[in-house]
Amino acid sequence: MNFDASCEECRRISSEYEAATMEWFRVQGQIRIAEYSHDDEASNRIIDELSRITARRQRLREEAEKHQLDRHPRIAAAGDSKS
Ligand SMILES: [Zn+2]
Repeated sequence: MNFDASCEECRRISSEYEAATMEWFRVQGQIRIAEYSHDDEASNRIIDELSRITARRQRLREEAEKHQLDRHPRIAAAGDSKS
């Protein structure tokens, strides 16, 4: 994700996105453990959590895109070729 480090909104979105990504990896690790121990209840709970985190990351991505098109059209355009 591209962002302008001097822009407060960019920093907020990108740090929230980063936090959500770390959360995703953490929960992803938990699901392996739950599957390994055949704990269906835990697996279902973790899958729910994973899809919530995925939705949050998607929302943040969209938020970043909108914000960049609005405030940093050049960064938004540069992002297209990289992603
Ligand atoms: Zn910005």
